Amino acid sequence: MTPYEFTCPDCRREIPVTDPMREATLANGCPVCGRAVAEDNFATGSRC
Ligand SMILES: [Zn+2]
Repeated sequence: MTPYEFTCPDCRREIPVTDPMREATLANGCPVCGRAVAEDNFATGSRC
């Protein structure tokens, strides 16, 4: 169960992320392809 779902705008990978992972991804880019990402690329909704 993760609070955020990251969808890369470039490689289209969908990755469930926690809040610290979200911060790290915003800082470092997509963990798959390295593309810079924005807050728009994160959706909330996996939280139960
Ligand atoms: Zn990517």
